[in-house]
Amino acid sequence: TEAGETIRATLFPGDGIGPEIAESVKQVFKVAGVPIEWEEHYVGTEVDPRTESFLTWESLESVRRNKVGLKGPMATPIGKGHRSLNLTLRKELGLYANVRPCNSLPGYKTRYDDVNLVTIRENTEGEYSGLEHQVVRGVVESLKIITRQASLRVAEYAFHYAKTNGRERVSAIHKANIMRKTDGLFLKCCREVAEKYPEIIYEEVIIDNCCMTLVKNPGTFDVLVMPNLYGDIISDLCAGLIGGLGLTPSCNIGEGGICLAEAVHGSAPDISGKNLANPTALMLSAVMMLRHLQFNDQAERIHNAILQTIAEGKYRTADLGGKSSTSDYTKAVCDHI
Ligand code: NAD
Repeated sequence: TEAGETIRATLFPGDGIGPEIAESVKQVFKVAGVPIEWEEHYVGTEVDPRTESFLTWESLESVRRNKVGLKGPMATPIGKGHRSLNLTLRKELGLYANVRPCNSLPGYKTRYDDVNLVTIRENTEGEYSGLEHQVVRGVVESLKIITRQASLRVAEYAFHYAKTNGRERVSAIHKANIMRKTDGLFLKCCREVAEKYPEIIYEEVIIDNCCMTLVKNPGTFDVLVMPNLYGDIISDLCAGLIGGLGLTPSCNIGEGGICLAEAVHGSAPDISGKNLANPTALMLSAVMMLRHLQFNDQAERIHNAILQTIAEGKYRTADLGGKSSTSDYTKAVCDHI
């Protein structure tokens, strides 16, 4: 990005609390003077035959064109004849890695105060693809596909991330002692990539041991890279270490350099429309998007304002034990900026 340039980015406000917290992000960006023009796309009310989902073709094209976007939570409508919204995005945009930083927030007390790790999850294959069928009655089969191409791609991303973000170590999480072929191949690919990054320490940790260490002493981890299903589980465990869903951002990396940031949480139907949601997770996701665009000054200012607001403790939403509404908390963050 060059100075003075305005960037177009796609915004999916999403469902439930999505539009409320997306509004918070828009306000914060305005106050911080972020030169971004949003292209807003909503989830449709009927299935678009071109995508076989409630997401329109135009909205996917918008992300492909802009290569950068922010996504609120999407509630997948129940019924047949359409694909899950998140799965559609993942497949259509080739979102191959999910990056989720977990940092203890100063001033917000949890059991740990030294969590500073990043999980990087392979996002396209493994058990998570749901390739399952019944062989005969009482016997089912699930296919766990691991390919060299997808493993190398996510490993490459993890090491590149570590190097460009001043991280020292990459841990590959696996169960290759049992899943010798599949996790074995995943590890082999990680080792190959590790050789190209001699400045980054590389280690391999068996997933059960990883879980134990994470809850005992999460401060020992730096960057973790892992196959899809392990990433699904471990990244939620890590979110829990720092205070839960209202706080954890993430970012999906896709083919051709696409970056689609999103909060980890869902549409929270129990509190939607009540001005109660915590917009922090989506704001921090937006900060990840800004860092991706190299808008580092604005990213830093917004990040610091969020940290200060939470640390002060005067304005906090209900999920963090406070009494503030979404809009009061957002205003406090804006005032700090
Ligand atoms: P959820 O994350 O929406 O809610 C779980 C609990 O956390 C609720 O009590 C909710 O009030 C609370 N919560 C979540 N985000 C919060 C926030 N920002 N501030 C304060 N409290 C918050 O999970 P769910 O209820 O299992 O799912 C609801 C819907 O969201 C479902 O349709 C599901 O498919 C969808 N979902 C979408 C995504 C996504 O788009 N990435 C992720 C998860 C769930």
